[in-house]
Amino acid sequence: MPSSPLPLRRITVLSGGVGGARFLQGLLHGLRTGVVPGGSADTEVTVVANTADDWWIHGLKVCPDLDTVMYTLGEGIDVERGWGRREETWSAKTELEAYGVEPTWFGLGDRDIATHLVRTQMLEAGFTLSQVTEALCRRWLTPAHGSSVRLLPMSDDRVETHIAIADPDSASGRSVIHFQEYWVRLRAAVPAEAVLVVGQDAATPAPGVLAAITEADLVVLPPSNPVVSVGTILGVPGIRDALRASAAPVVGLSPIVGDSHVHGMASQMLTSIGVEVSAGAVGVHYGARSAGGVIDGWLVDSRDAAQVPRLEQAGLRAQAVPLMMSGLDATAAMAAAAVSLVAGPA
Ligand code: GDP
Ligand code: CA
Repeated sequence: MPSSPLPLRRITVLSGGVGGARFLQGLLHGLRTGVVPGGSADTEVTVVANTADDWWIHGLKVCPDLDTVMYTLGEGIDVERGWGRREETWSAKTELEAYGVEPTWFGLGDRDIATHLVRTQMLEAGFTLSQVTEALCRRWLTPAHGSSVRLLPMSDDRVETHIAIADPDSASGRSVIHFQEYWVRLRAAVPAEAVLVVGQDAATPAPGVLAAITEADLVVLPPSNPVVSVGTILGVPGIRDALRASAAPVVGLSPIVGDSHVHGMASQMLTSIGVEVSAGAVGVHYGARSAGGVIDGWLVDSRDAAQVPRLEQAGLRAQAVPLMMSGLDATAAMAAAAVSLVAGPA
């Protein structure tokens, strides 16, 4: 076990979209209100976000997880949907449909399109995704929004999750579709036979990512999807090794509560990679750093308390606490519990 991380000057969080963003909101609230041990409003939070959900659509580069984190922390998110802009309108989508332009199942809101236009123009002018993200965040992640969070894409290279599904009409009996098609068009309602992360092996971490992990006082895996959010970040060559080498403790929170995910499709993704759908199995899947894995501590929900001994046997610190992000205070308490789990002596 690494030395105590307190005081917390720097925290790095490896995040997907909605689950990660909600956790970050609670963490920041906890830092501001003093409930996170060793933390304060001055604690610097760096988010390394998954970019393997990204895709090009109607000529625009869309980065769902980066935008969900950015809009959520910048108070521009549609809170009910959990993604996209609040007070959104859909005229462009309706017009595209009137032209018969496919795909019609992926909705881009009018306000959201402005973000994608800025991003796409900057990329086409030669800026990297990191530079574009920094530029977009100048609007959203300011002290005026109560947070001075730094948001980094996991990589500036194109990495895309594709899902193999059964397809009796195809000669191979399979089709491989983009993650967005699996999730948005098919609602993850058909089994995923395999998860293929295209471009991952050749990708390099974006500038600042490795240093954010090795120079942090604490690294957190929020309750994001372990396969297509955190898994894809860890799969970028160099990131797993940085996590393993970091002097900071690494702590995670389970996105599986009881026998399923809370939202989304983590259950389908875990099944496709052969991991049992339980909070304990996900902790064991990440594994203890002392045994070749990437985490030191793992929080499960109170109703999964029976999983704690199994996690401890695997070399992890583990504890069962309420893990439902039902509001800022509840989520801040989760962040505080995560810090406490790995901060003190064993
Ligand atoms: P996505 O990229 O939008 O799918 O978001 P993430 O990967 O960051 O997070 C998705 C995960 O968050 C899902 O697997 C959910 O089970 C998990 N999640 C959402 N809400 C909660 C919650 O209140 N508690 C816990 N423990 N997990 C949650
Ligand atoms: Ca995502």
